[in-house]
Amino acid sequence: MSVNILENYIDGEWVPSESDRTLDVRNPATGETIAQVPLSTAAEVDQAVQAAKDAFQEWRETPPYTRARAMFRLKEAMEENFEDLARQIVEENGKILDEARGEVRRAIENVEGAAAIPYLMMGYNLEDVATGIDEYAIRQPMGVFFAIAPFNFPAMVPFWFMPYAIACGNTYIVKPSEQTPLTQARMFDLIDEADFPPGVVNLVNGDRVAAEALLQHPDTVGVSFVGSTPVARHVYQMATSHGKRAQCQGGAKNFLTIMPDAVMDRTVAAIMTSAFGTAGQRCLAGSVVLAVGDSYEPLREKLVEAARQLKIGNGMDQGTQMGPVISAKSLERVCNYIQQGVDAGAELLLDGRGIKVDGYPNGYFVGPTIFDKTTPEMPIIQDEIFGPVLSIMQVDDFDEAVDVLHTSPYGNAASIFTASGKWAREFQYRVQAGNIGVNIGIAAPIAAFPFAGMKDSFFGDLHGQGLDGINFFTDRKVVITRWF
Ligand code: NAD
Repeated sequence: MSVNILENYIDGEWVPSESDRTLDVRNPATGETIAQVPLSTAAEVDQAVQAAKDAFQEWRETPPYTRARAMFRLKEAMEENFEDLARQIVEENGKILDEARGEVRRAIENVEGAAAIPYLMMGYNLEDVATGIDEYAIRQPMGVFFAIAPFNFPAMVPFWFMPYAIACGNTYIVKPSEQTPLTQARMFDLIDEADFPPGVVNLVNGDRVAAEALLQHPDTVGVSFVGSTPVARHVYQMATSHGKRAQCQGGAKNFLTIMPDAVMDRTVAAIMTSAFGTAGQRCLAGSVVLAVGDSYEPLREKLVEAARQLKIGNGMDQGTQMGPVISAKSLERVCNYIQQGVDAGAELLLDGRGIKVDGYPNGYFVGPTIFDKTTPEMPIIQDEIFGPVLSIMQVDDFDEAVDVLHTSPYGNAASIFTASGKWAREFQYRVQAGNIGVNIGIAAPIAAFPFAGMKDSFFGDLHGQGLDGINFFTDRKVVITRWF
């Protein structure tokens, strides 16, 4: 059966890639090849950059209200195609339909936020900084920005950045994950419908070659990267050594601290979605439960009971609660980590390896897995597994929980479950993580708030989304005036 070969979107047109390298894109629930993605060359990246560069001057001179109207058109197109987009995500990523709908909603939220650009981009002023002298600060767009995206949120992640960048008057290039490029292809059909001037928004499919060509190109000014920590660090170094702005979000290992006074049933339900939603492939997924004092016994029992009941299957099927992981390679990595946990002496309470899903013999499925009796130095506690593996660790008190979670090199998210305002405040005050949840399993900021982690989960300064996004995508200039 012949499959569709994806194209790039450059200068307002869909163009076939001339690269001789392609990859199969697979549906992780069935293992079937659903498309081929070209791995674009540096020359194709250069064409996209030239188009974006040529479009910049006219676009920056376009009034902010006109740029905002393009956002409204894009929002409308996304609303009209909401269900199609969600289904596309499920097909290439494997997450369940409801989670995919949530992802599309967050992508739309960012477009809605960027539509407020006439307000967001305003500067400020002060009269009489000295007698007869006034001073004001303005924000100006800078040129060609680009995103390098991961596989796990194929609709949303590029939309953490692109809407703000172009609303500010920059031009843009998206390089989606080569594992999940179909959703952005669909999004760019809508971008095409929304009638942006040619060259303002471009799509280049590819892998490391295309990404590095963007990072080294003399005419790009900044990158928003989201992916694993080793690549985030590399991208940050390469971007900054080429004089570009960079905000690079990396991997994660998120700890959930459960105090003895937590509301247990609600807490268990929140842990289930946090650890096993999107098959644990979220940068905000909880992967270690720190059970403080007396919370341990009831938690251990209830978590295993709840996880056993999760329905595993194709995310497209009604009633499925957890889908597959992204690829055969990921499946192997997750299973290797489970073995490492066993070898290190952790107690395997629930083993997701080798599960069979009716009707999907070739899917990349691993069931919910729970370890107990874990210790901080184990690889299953220190490393990002990025699969449905949850570890329980018993700790004596709040201080020990904070000490343990600070042994992690990551600092993306951390949550506490408690009925005590004192512990909640202490937690938000002391814990080094960019996103803190209080009785929340997935501490994901809405579009109006900035989003990034700390420590090895983020390289850069200005975060994605919100006002940080506006500052990242503009240069601030101060003007001091005196009239004789
Ligand atoms: P990945 O690092 O393998 O790939 C991410 C992107 O980097 C892809 O587009 C890939 O083509 C590109 N890339 C790969 N090698 C490169 C190189 N040498 N130079 C430049 N670009 C290169 O990540 P993934 O497996 O697609 O995504 C999962 C990871 O993303 C997890 O670690 C997860 O925690 C992380 N993530 C983080 C956040 C966050 O907000 N911190 C959000 C989502 C995902």
